[in-house]
Amino acid sequence: MGKPAFPGAHPLHAPPSWRCIDFISDIHLHDGLPNTMAALERFLSETPADALFILGDLFEAWVGDDMRSEPYEAGCFAMLREFASRCWLGIMVGNRDFLLGDAFTRDCGAHALPDPTELHAFGHRALLIHGDELCLADTKYLAFRAQVRQAAWQQAFLAHPLAARLEQARQMRAASQAHQQGDQQAMYADVDETAAAAWLNASGCDMLIHGHTHRPGSQPFGGHTRHVLSDWDLDHGHPRAEVLRWTQGGLQRIALT
Ligand code: MN
Repeated sequence: MGKPAFPGAHPLHAPPSWRCIDFISDIHLHDGLPNTMAALERFLSETPADALFILGDLFEAWVGDDMRSEPYEAGCFAMLREFASRCWLGIMVGNRDFLLGDAFTRDCGAHALPDPTELHAFGHRALLIHGDELCLADTKYLAFRAQVRQAAWQQAFLAHPLAARLEQARQMRAASQAHQQGDQQAMYADVDETAAAAWLNASGCDMLIHGHTHRPGSQPFGGHTRHVLSDWDLDHGHPRAEVLRWTQGGLQRIALT
């Protein structure tokens, strides 16, 4: 398979008033994660950031914006709306919550972030992506992605009653877990650095910030720097939750565990 051509990025210029920009991703919220939810609430109330970028998979599953009427999701919506009333909030969708609509984001006072987005701040340009689209080794997932990102597929899916969509999401999650456990492709898929470097060169960005792979770290590649966000989970073994914070002084990782 060839490398995907750079699709062009949505430009976003940080206003000079932004002194501190936070990035998180892959919180995978669902109603079985009380400690993770509590950590997110605490982080939202305490962060000194002027802007927060959520780079995909805030939710473990999202089957349509009418899901917002479910009790747990209604609570999440209220939490995000309260936060967005006092801090700039940008939300990108991931492979789990790709049906999170612009209307949901707008209604909670946040900004929908296209994938990719190109953020200009502190004299640098960062390319922001979720990351799934550049995990080129996972060809099965990419075929699935190509299907479900089509408007026709989404319209047909959203035409089903909410209860049926919730059930389908449950089944897809179970299938996905089996796929990850039994499939080397999915286990080892990582962002393809050759393709990522080509995207950075095409966009004029000097760094890449992404989530999805759950392999947090910052490393140089192809003359650029790549910053991978951590996933969050404080409800199972190996508690983890990290924020990547960008200020004039550079980028730093802050562990919330
Ligand atoms: Mn993901």
